[in-house]
Amino acid sequence: MNPCTLTTADQPHCTRPSPLEIADVTSQRAWGCLGHALRALRAVDGARIVRDLRKEGEQA
Ligand SMILES: [Zn+2]
Repeated sequence: MNPCTLTTADQPHCTRPSPLEIADVTSQRAWGCLGHALRALRAVDGARIVRDLRKEGEQA
């Protein structure tokens, strides 16, 4: 499982499983756990989910 890289600077390192890959409008991609990915989707204009491992049958 990929590490969650969607924490903000003031947060401790996130060790939760990261089944969501999101991309911003420049197609920069990052893996994140459910909570951090959803927050990033709300916070970043044009961000979208590009992969959801939960829907691909992989263990999160
Ligand atoms: Zn996280």
